[in-house]
Amino acid sequence: MNEVKRPKRPLIYYYGVIVLILLLFNLLALPKLSQWQVVEVDYGTFMSMTEDGQVGRVEIQEQENLILFTDQEETTVYKTAMVDDPDLTARLHDAGIPFYGQEIQQESPMLSFLLTWILPLLIFIAIGQFMSKKMMDRAGGANAMSFGFGKSNAKIYVKSSEGIKFSDVAGEDEAKESLQEIVNYLHDPSQYREIGASMPKGILLVGPPGTGKTMLAKAVAGEANVPFFSISGSEFVEMFVGMGASKVRDLFKQAKEKAPCIVFIDEIDAIGKKRDGQVGGNDEREQTLNQLLTEMDGFEGNNGVIILAATNRPESLDPALTRPGRFDRRVPVELPDLQGREAILKVHAKKIKVADQVDFHQIARMASGASGAELANIVNEAALRAVRNGRKYATQADLEESIEVVIAGYQKKNAILTDREKWTVSYHEIGHALVAALQNHSAPVQKITIIPRTSGALGYTMQVEEGNHYLLTQEELENKIATYTGGRAAEEVVFGTSSTGASNDIEQATKLARAMITRYGMSPDFDMVALESVTNQYLGGDSSLTCSMETQTEVDRQVVALVKREHAKATAILQENREKLDELAKYLYEQETITGEEFMEILNR
Ligand code: ADP
Repeated sequence: MNEVKRPKRPLIYYYGVIVLILLLFNLLALPKLSQWQVVEVDYGTFMSMTEDGQVGRVEIQEQENLILFTDQEETTVYKTAMVDDPDLTARLHDAGIPFYGQEIQQESPMLSFLLTWILPLLIFIAIGQFMSKKMMDRAGGANAMSFGFGKSNAKIYVKSSEGIKFSDVAGEDEAKESLQEIVNYLHDPSQYREIGASMPKGILLVGPPGTGKTMLAKAVAGEANVPFFSISGSEFVEMFVGMGASKVRDLFKQAKEKAPCIVFIDEIDAIGKKRDGQVGGNDEREQTLNQLLTEMDGFEGNNGVIILAATNRPESLDPALTRPGRFDRRVPVELPDLQGREAILKVHAKKIKVADQVDFHQIARMASGASGAELANIVNEAALRAVRNGRKYATQADLEESIEVVIAGYQKKNAILTDREKWTVSYHEIGHALVAALQNHSAPVQKITIIPRTSGALGYTMQVEEGNHYLLTQEELENKIATYTGGRAAEEVVFGTSSTGASNDIEQATKLARAMITRYGMSPDFDMVALESVTNQYLGGDSSLTCSMETQTEVDRQVVALVKREHAKATAILQENREKLDELAKYLYEQETITGEEFMEILNR
């Protein structure tokens, strides 16, 4: 879409005036000045020139103690210091030379007025304008000294033929369905008015970062062919109390003028956070929020202004903001599922050249858990890799490698592992894969590699989900924990010792075990009691315990027991399959990267 900034006072106008003035100055004054070349001469020369009748005019500047005179043609100005010469005036008079007590090179009064009054004024105005523009650009209008006080800096995206459409947003069908209604309404409000239905004033798009919330909002505007105002919540928060509120007012004023239109407020949690009534709370933010609430109440439904807002922390929003009549509809924009990922990959792959035989389904399976933004990044990385390798199009291998780049970073070319370390990593990774493969419920392995990555991983096992999993049974979760412990278990089985390589596994296993006990009710002792609440659902899922100290101790004990149990299970599996473990580890040690098929083939031999 074409981005058009809010119309401003045309700064170019001032620059134009300045240029004009300079031109005038050059045209009128400069030639005049340069015409008078001042040549310094001695008094004797002046006297003899007077006698010879070579002098045109004379100016006597007594204060400066100077005599200026011109030649007959008045092309050159001569200057000489005054000497005590009482007969001078009489001599000049006799010679018929006009003489004055003032300057010869009188500027025209108009020009001097322009130069002394108008020009400095204009320069000041221009500098002022320039500085204020700079400040507004830098501080997004948040500077107290800018002239743009309290103006909203929403950008207007005017409809255009290249506007983002729903078809550009892959997957997210449920979200698109809810938003389609808004598009229909903006197209033809009458059918809604007829029946007496009113559109929701505000729609909250919630979901993890990079799932396409901004894109969806733009797509609504693109589909409905209406102007699109976009502003980030943080842009409202100002240094001075009241500024944010005035920005909100300004934004709504602009929006009402342009109705029907879409106003999109990104990261609304920046202003919409719960007002907690603390002493010394954030006055500015609260005032801004109050203003937003008032504005939303103020305009009656069906006036054509639809507010979309995005956040990844819906739980932190003020309840007043999410009540019916304000943001009364909530559209979840979740991480894409397998199908969604495939569709997103295809949408982005259209922008680059890809080989014909690329299996996007396979890539989508490998990129489980990736957001739309990550998938876009994966496709772009693949294109970059293709260029690096001197190819004209990206291949399946490029895409697969770029998933690993996005997940684990680039290959570390010069990381030199000792032989012992390389063996340890091989056994560690095969340990994970073998435990996963031998418990039927675990997902099969896609790829195992022991090439160090810039993320610090010395190797990793890429598991692949066959399809979408929405529910996991207790057994499946336990198997997952066993798989996490499989790496360490293999090291112990083979080398009889442990290394630092398992820290991430330990973290993951503990997190899962804790969730099973505190949130999923999978501990016989606590039954269906929630001991933990998740606070940041879309941002990594932080959780806080909501139980007594005694219970916490018991939870810890049970977490340890659960992980220990699974660790023992993994160890037992590996001990039983020691031969396979050795065979696979040797193969991985030699090959450095093996695929899921190779792995299964050796396992089933
Ligand atoms: P959010 O606002 O949810 O953080 P954005 O809408 O800014 O995410 O998305 C970031 C980028 O990710 C987009 O520019 C787009 O390239 C890509 N993207 C995300 N979701 C999708 C999707 N469903 N379809 C296509 N591209 C997507």
